[in-house]
This record gives sequence, C-alpha cells and structure tokens, in this order.
Amino acid sequence: MTKIPEVWIFAEQQLGQIEPTVFQLLTRAREIAPRFKVVAVLFETPTQHLAATLAEYGPDKILVVQDPRLAQVADAEQATLLAHLVQRDQPNSFLFGATALGRSLAPRLQAKLQTGLTADCLALHFEDELLVQTKPSYGDNIMCEIVCPDKRPQMATVRPNTFAAQKVEPDRSRPELEVVTDLPWPEVAHFQIIAEKKVATPQTGLSQAKRIIALGRGAADAASKTVARSWAQKIDAQIGVTRPLTDGGGFSVKDQIGQSGQTVAPELLFCLGISGAVQFLSGITNAKVIVAVNPDPQAAIFSVADYGFVGEANGFLTALQQVDQRKQAALK
Ligand SMILES: Cc1cc2nc3c(=O)[nH]c(=O)nc-3n(C[C@H](O)[C@H](O)[C@H](O)COP(=O)(O)OP(=O)(O)OC[C@H]3O[C@@H](n4cnc5c(N)ncnc54)[C@H](O)[C@@H]3O)c2cc1C
Repeated sequence: MTKIPEVWIFAEQQLGQIEPTVFQLLTRAREIAPRFKVVAVLFETPTQHLAATLAEYGPDKILVVQDPRLAQVADAEQATLLAHLVQRDQPNSFLFGATALGRSLAPRLQAKLQTGLTADCLALHFEDELLVQTKPSYGDNIMCEIVCPDKRPQMATVRPNTFAAQKVEPDRSRPELEVVTDLPWPEVAHFQIIAEKKVATPQTGLSQAKRIIALGRGAADAASKTVARSWAQKIDAQIGVTRPLTDGGGFSVKDQIGQSGQTVAPELLFCLGISGAVQFLSGITNAKVIVAVNPDPQAAIFSVADYGFVGEANGFLTALQQVDQRKQAALK
C-alpha cells in the first residue's frame, strides 16, 4: 500500500507551554496539505501532558517522545533524536518555527540528514508533493521560491505570526497518538540545567501584541510620537514603526514591522503616516482590524484598511484624546 506523505511540525515547548508558532504551522499544514498526514512531533517528560493542547489544532497524529531525560536535554541531543525519528518514518517535510530553538535545531537536523532547509519562510504551499518555500532573498530585495526536489524531508523554518492559528471543532480533533519511549539516547552530557527561564525571543513583544500603534514617516515628528506613546499607554498598545523610522534612529529592528522587521498579528492596528509599501504590508497580513490615517486618499495603506481617515496623524490622535478626556469628564 502506498504510504500517505507526512508533513511534520516540531511542537516546540518551553516550560510546559507550546510555542504559539506551532499552532500556526499546524493550521497552515492542514490548509496546504489536505491529502497529507499532518504530524506534530512533541518532546516531553512523562509528567508533562501537552498532546491535548496540540490536538485542538487538528493534527492527524501526535508523535510523542517521552523521557525524563528530556528535562536536561541539549539542542544537539534533540537533533539526534529527531534524526532517529525521521530515519524511521521518512516524512515528506519537516517544519519548525523560526524561534531561537527552531533556528538551532533545524540546521543541526538538516546537516545530519543531508537534505535542504529554507530558513525564515514567509509563505509555503505544495505543488503535488513538492514544498514551495517563499522567502526574501538578495538583501530582502526579491521574494524567492525555493524547492528541494531530490532530498527528503523538505525542511523549512517559518517566522512567528506568518500564519494565523485556527482551532478545529472539538469533534474533529481525534489525532492518532504514538508514544515513543525507546529511542537510542545520544551519549552526550555537556551540562546540567540548574534553573530554567522562558526565553524572550526577538519576536516577543511586538509580534505578540494585541494592539499596535504603527508610526510611519508621516507621523515621525516629536509631537505625533509623544501623543502616540501616551495613547498607547492608555489603550495598552505597543508602538511599532516603518523602516524609515528605524533608519532614522530612536527605534530598532525589534520595533520595525515588515519584511525585514517583525511580523505582527494584533487584534487592532493603527497605521499612522504610513504609505503602505509592500515590504511593510507583508508584516501585517494577519492583523484583524486595521485603521489607517493618511492625508493622501490614494495611499496604498487604504486598500488593506478596515477603517480609513483621510487627514493628518497628529490631528487624529489629538481628536481621540479629546474624545477620551470629554468622556472622563462626563463620568466624574
Ligand atoms: C529590501 C527592503 C526591505 C524593506 N523592509 C521594510 C520593512 O521591514 N518595513 C518597512 O516598513 N519598510 C521596509 N522597507 C522600506 C519600504 O519599501 C518603504 O520605504 C517604507 O515602508 C515606507 O515607510 P513609510 O510608509 O513610513 O514612509 P513613506 O512611504 O514615505 O510614507 C509616508 C506617508 O505618510 C503620509 N503623510 C505625510 N504627512 C502626513 C501626516 N501629517 N499625517 C499622516 N500621514 C502623513 C504620506 O502621505 C505618505 O503616504 C524595505 C525596503 C527594502 C528595499
């Protein structure tokens, strides 16, 4: 019988919490590979029980490697264990989040398996059984489609928030569960873990924010920045910027939204003084509600906005604050 091709997702966890990118990858894998078996590969200690959380995102199978030694495991050892699993089951593809751990494990595994790996993908789709991986190339100036035609598995890391996560209906989430307890354990013990702390990845912060006020060149003056910061505090939002503001100093790439910055997925995104260049737009495709403010009615940002205000950023922010002040006064 022909084996159903499998697309594997590494179910990265930190201190018993599944990294959100895993849910995004499971969702995307279901969308792009409906004929494949979507498999979540989870490493956990016997006291952790994380499979149920993964099941909510509809994998066909959860492959759990359970071992108490996983509490003290190094990246090199994890890569060796993954290599054993891959050699045993021969998946078609293997996806990782482009997180600190994913960026460490995926190349180690790729080197062991002598296959292809595309790092930091922004889009994925299948053409038959060939994984087409899209990423910015040549100094981020073009988008390149990369394939690995003759080696398996096809491997990719994907930036957090590139895709949206979607749970499946509870009655549709009955994955097959395989618990593996007998993998040959690599003989490496370089260190002992004394304490563990959740890593703040470069993506933590802006990419996890529920509300963002994004400032562009048209809102880069000191007055707009001051009002935006105070409004952000008021509505519990983070400030993001376009590249000209990063280049201008005062902001870093951690604050920048877009192709060469962060991918964001807030519930509410204000775009103030932003024209809507493709490099910026590629970082906001998963924002739920976009409010754009720009005096140019032809600005490209309006074509992706849910609400638009044709006017100046500073005037818009000041008006918002005045409305709020009036409301506070009325409530007194
Ligand atoms: C390889 C590469 C990678 C890149 N990566 C990124 C990236 O990750 N992120 C990114 O953002 N850019 C990136 N860029 C740059 C991108 O091409 C644009 O230049 C940039 O997004 C434009 O930023 P902006 O909208 O703030 O400025 P502009 O394009 O100059 O737009 C300013 C807007 O402000 C409006 N405006 C003027 N006055 C006001 C006012 N008083 N109030 C409100 N609006 C006003 C104007 O009408 C205009 O639409 C990249 C470019 C390259 C080549």
